[in-house]
Amino acid sequence: MPLCVLAVGAGPDALRVLAAAADELQLQLAAIDNEAGALAYAETHAVALAIVDLVQGSVDPATFGTRLRARQQVTVPLVFLVDAATPRARIDAAGAVDAADFLALPLIAGVAHARLAMAAAQARKECGETIDHRDHFSLLLASSGEGIYGMGPDHTCTFINPAGAAMLGYQPDDLVGRPLHDMIHYQHADGSPYPLAQCRLNEAAREGASVRVDNEVFWHRDGHPVPVSYSVAPILVDGAPNGAVITFTDSTARRAAEVQLKESEERVRLATDAAELGMWRWRPEDDQIAWENTRMFDIVRMPHDAAPVNAARFAAEYLHPGDSADFNEAVTKTLTDGARFYFVGRFMPGDGGPYRWIEFTGLLQPQAEGARPQMIGTASDVTARKRTEEDLRTLAAELSESNRKKGEFLATLAHELRNPLAPIRTGLAVLGLGGDKPEAVARIRAMMERQVSHMVHLVDDLLDVARISSGKVDLKIARVDVKAVIASAVETSQPLIDAAQHRLSVTLSDTPLWLDADLTRLAQVVSNLLTNAAKYTLPGGQIQLHASRDERYVLIAVTDSGMGIPRAELPTVFDMFTQVSTHAPQAQGGLGIGLSLVRHLVELHGGSVAVHSEGEGHGSTFEVRLPLADSGERRKFVRPSTAPDPMAHAGLNVLIADDNEDAAAALSEFLRIAGHHVTTVNNGHDAVRSAGALHPDAILLDIGMPGMNGYEVARALRGTPGMEKIVLVALTGWGTDDDRSRASAAGFDHHLTKPTSAADIVKVLETARRKES
Ligand code: ADP
Repeated sequence: MPLCVLAVGAGPDALRVLAAAADELQLQLAAIDNEAGALAYAETHAVALAIVDLVQGSVDPATFGTRLRARQQVTVPLVFLVDAATPRARIDAAGAVDAADFLALPLIAGVAHARLAMAAAQARKECGETIDHRDHFSLLLASSGEGIYGMGPDHTCTFINPAGAAMLGYQPDDLVGRPLHDMIHYQHADGSPYPLAQCRLNEAAREGASVRVDNEVFWHRDGHPVPVSYSVAPILVDGAPNGAVITFTDSTARRAAEVQLKESEERVRLATDAAELGMWRWRPEDDQIAWENTRMFDIVRMPHDAAPVNAARFAAEYLHPGDSADFNEAVTKTLTDGARFYFVGRFMPGDGGPYRWIEFTGLLQPQAEGARPQMIGTASDVTARKRTEEDLRTLAAELSESNRKKGEFLATLAHELRNPLAPIRTGLAVLGLGGDKPEAVARIRAMMERQVSHMVHLVDDLLDVARISSGKVDLKIARVDVKAVIASAVETSQPLIDAAQHRLSVTLSDTPLWLDADLTRLAQVVSNLLTNAAKYTLPGGQIQLHASRDERYVLIAVTDSGMGIPRAELPTVFDMFTQVSTHAPQAQGGLGIGLSLVRHLVELHGGSVAVHSEGEGHGSTFEVRLPLADSGERRKFVRPSTAPDPMAHAGLNVLIADDNEDAAAALSEFLRIAGHHVTTVNNGHDAVRSAGALHPDAILLDIGMPGMNGYEVARALRGTPGMEKIVLVALTGWGTDDDRSRASAAGFDHHLTKPTSAADIVKVLETARRKES
């Protein structure tokens, strides 16, 4: 827009001079002779200079100057044309409106030119600056990434920057002058209507209040919602609201990031919950440890709203005193060399319960410039793991101890088995030399019998241990009076007690005390205790055996005046292969398994066993407690077994088949003495042949024979007519249930495990006698 010079009320001479100057300076000259016209012109033009003729014109300089300046953005300089006759009052009035200059008429061309040039330069400078400011402001709006728009008091858009319009799919010109609410803000995110009356943006503009809204949508030109955050700054004119400026941003990315963050936090929460991990954070500036998730509060057993704990207090008050040094060392190490923090220790839970083992791990998290790093980490309750580790350690120690005992046991066993063999071998040599001297033979036989029964006793105990450890003991339960148990046990132990010249006193209740028990096994228990009492008491001691009722139990106590047991050894005395070291000389070939058998057998009967001793030299008491049979009803009374009479069933025809000729000969000798007719063969084929020829009452068959084994012989005989009634007895070193079933399947009637006792053989021959009769 060209700058113009406004000449108000000037005469033709002055106008000529001014027009020439304006032309030269490329200014537009507007010659207007009245005030109203001049003011109207100024509404639409930028006026660089107004020249008012005070001589000719009727313009009032004061009102004109004020009004003109009100219509222009810059202060328009006013120059007045005067002459010598111009009244003083008019000149003063012009001066009062800040006249820039007074030029005398008639105008001199050079003066007019200079004055116009100066005004033009001034105006150009001011207009230029104004234009610069506007450019700068427009640039600012245009380059802002945020949307900015102005809203008039009638809710129409007064301007909008290109970024804002583009966010909504428009050009600024599409929106300026139009009611924006109806175009971009007419419904909520869920599609429900959003009337102007409820619009928070308009409400803020209407009330002249600032407001910031985070979760609304504007609607894009193509109909999709644009999530926005916006701020409203009201425009106040004289303190009254007059529209507003709104800045807004598309918050899609921010919201997506928020959702992502939330999801990732949820994933972390799930993962830590699944791993039962607590999370914590330690802030060094205030030395506070904060529990970061609910699992952490559960681990330390504190209420979920418990305040953060001071780290120094944590170590001093909550950690086990024995672990706080480790804790401080772990913290220092991490703080000095940045290593991963790791600490496992005992922690006293917030609920005052017993110490729990907690494992802490952590890492330093660098903070903004200058701030000390924080430590962030996880924690888990590892009490169960610690207990398992502890149990494993104990178990390993126990295993190694039991291994040691087993080694010791094997050495003792080898020694104890060799001991009886030496006299037996000597006995055999003696028999070979002087077998015809009956007294010598009788003595030697008695000695050999003692040694063999000692060995058999050892082996029986070992077999019992093996059966019990593999759970293969079958109790033959019957209703038994405890008296029968005691009688049997005393009978077995009496020889040893007598040999050591002990005095045994037995006290029993008069009324029967019934047990549902295996008589033989319980007698074994009591006789083991009596035997021990006899062994571990110096000759001439006292042994008391006492059986009485104690409420629903029968109490059997064996007390001796012997060497007693050191207190430290009491807890392990029932363990397998355990012997009190100082008692070794009295053990008499014991292997430390008797008491273990006692405990197992008593427990199999639902009872318990205990030991009391005041220590070395003060004697011992072993107490067995067994549950009474549940009613007073007397079932079958089981008498203690007495040794069978070998002559009771004499006169049978017996065939023995064994490839061990010595074993066959010895057995044959025994049966002959017992009054039977015996034939001996040494293999399976001969057995079948002899059986056919002799038709014996019973055949004792070894299983492991060359050519035809015992099973094959049995099957062959059972398949031969007329042989069905013969009693077939298997003699074998193997005594498992499988071996028994195999023998029975082959047709055997009995199965005896070697070494077979004479009593067992007599017992099975009894069945042959019954068949015969
Ligand atoms: P052993 O065959 O060695 O006697 P036991 O298992 O019967 O094995 O007994 C284990 C150990 O307990 C014995 O070696 C002995 O040291 C001790 N003991 C058992 N009974 C008595 C007792 N009445 N008095 C003192 N010590 C005993």
